Amino acid sequence: MDEETRPPEQPDAGSAVCARCGTVAHGDAAPLTWLRSVEDGQRLLFCENCARLHIRAIESRLDSLWW
Ligand SMILES: [Zn+2]
Repeated sequence: MDEETRPPEQPDAGSAVCARCGTVAHGDAAPLTWLRSVEDGQRLLFCENCARLHIRAIESRLDSLWW
C-alpha cells in the first residue's frame, strides 16, 4: 500500500516557476504574493505581475461563460 504516497503532480521540488513568464522564485516556495491556480488538475503558479493579468483573464473567461 505504499505505491500511492506520492502526489500525482510534483513539479521540480525546490523551485517555483511562473507558469506564464518563467520567472523563478528564490527560495524553496513561491512567495505569498504569487498566485496559485489549479487548471485541469495541474497546479500553476503565477508571479505578481502575471497574477494580475491572469486574474483578469480568468474573470473575463468566467464572464463569457456565464452568458
Ligand atoms: Zn510571471
